Amino acid sequence: MEKKEETAYRKKQTAETEASITDFYRTMGISEPVCAFGESVLASLEERFKGIDETAEYNQMKVLKAMQDNRVSEACLLGTTGYGYNDLGRDTLEAVYASVFHTEDALVRPQITCGTHALALALMSNLRPGDELLSPVGKPYDTLEEVIGIRESRGSLKEYGVSYRQVDLLPDGGFDYEGIRAALNEKTKLVTIQRSKGYQTRPTLSVASIGELIAFIRGIRPDVICMVDNCYGEFVERIEPTDVGADMCVGSLIKNPGGGLAPIGGYIAGKKECVENAARRLTSPGLGKEVGASLGILPQFYQGFFLAPIVTAGALKGAIFAANLFERLGFPVVPNGTESRHDIIQAVTFRDPKGLIAFCEGIQAAAPVDSFVVPEPWDMPGYDSQVIMAAGAFVSGSSIELSADGPLKPPYAVYFQGGLTWPHAKFGILKALQRCVDAGAVRLQR
Ligand SMILES: *Cc1c(COP(=O)(O)O)cnc(C)c1O
Repeated sequence: MEKKEETAYRKKQTAETEASITDFYRTMGISEPVCAFGESVLASLEERFKGIDETAEYNQMKVLKAMQDNRVSEACLLGTTGYGYNDLGRDTLEAVYASVFHTEDALVRPQITCGTHALALALMSNLRPGDELLSPVGKPYDTLEEVIGIRESRGSLKEYGVSYRQVDLLPDGGFDYEGIRAALNEKTKLVTIQRSKGYQTRPTLSVASIGELIAFIRGIRPDVICMVDNCYGEFVERIEPTDVGADMCVGSLIKNPGGGLAPIGGYIAGKKECVENAARRLTSPGLGKEVGASLGILPQFYQGFFLAPIVTAGALKGAIFAANLFERLGFPVVPNGTESRHDIIQAVTFRDPKGLIAFCEGIQAAAPVDSFVVPEPWDMPGYDSQVIMAAGAFVSGSSIELSADGPLKPPYAVYFQGGLTWPHAKFGILKALQRCVDAGAVRLQR
């Protein structure tokens, strides 16, 4: 190397090694005190993050092995059109999902439009008039109320003569075993268990506790179908509900298993008969899984599923970071900073609207898309108060991407989730904290 060139190279190299993230954060609006506070919280999370990385490594191997065992090939990445007969890529992807969930079969389709659709499909295809549906874990996710007919709705299960029973969790979050025993009857055909707390304050269920619940139910009614709403739970643990006795796991591809790349879709992994029933309802009796062109979407489904364990780990770190940060600042957080995690959702209670709004503004300002817009509370249909939502996502409505929302009513809690990479989740949380500090909603204790 010429002497002059070498000096220039050295200079550049030194500049690069010295380029500090703190300086860079400052150019992106994060003050030194917020940055320092964030780092001090992070220093206490090393062991925790190591555990998450180990789970991600395990799950990465699980997905890789499933792809290898099912002989995923270049041809699988091509799509079909029209009827979609003999769609190798679609059928192989479903086999890959079945391998990961250790189930007999799976239905993984872009024609399943969202999580609610996947759950409605699983329920409506496996229940018949005169059957009863039981939720032994309290009220299900909001959008299922109309599916079931808890809120009157055209086309609901109730309208088709399927009745519904619910047993709430005990005040301490435990299962009401006696209540469940009393609710199980000769009509009970299907039990639906929601893993994630969704937008409630109850604890999220661990896979192990779901296993205990299923074992108890099987002890009374061995033939009942046990379905788990697995939304937000995939790859958070090393096992899934189907590893502990669930007949079906159901979820959305614009959450964890899509890895941020799937632009649409849902899945049902489970017993052959349950999946076949769902396929016949999705397409038509007589057609079932045989039709349903994948168009050009399979590369994103495969690649997203491949990345999902790592993406989920990043989101999980973000949730734990936010919990510890805001807990240390004196705000109630669910789950708390130290408890074990079974989904990627984090709630922070601000007790006043200023903090909630500032937090959402910060998340929006940290987004790769639409970072320049300011979220505002609005009268969202179906809610009894205004709601504020922040998301700047590549996939509309995707909540594996960094997003936050909350209703503008006491206790002014924000529900936060996602982040396609850990550095992005971290930055989003710092940005949200910065906004809270600037708005006077949070005071840093130095
Ligand atoms: C997101 C979610 C759903 C519904 O999924 P959508 O894709 O929003 O229709 C159902 N149950 C739980 C627990 C969820 O988190």
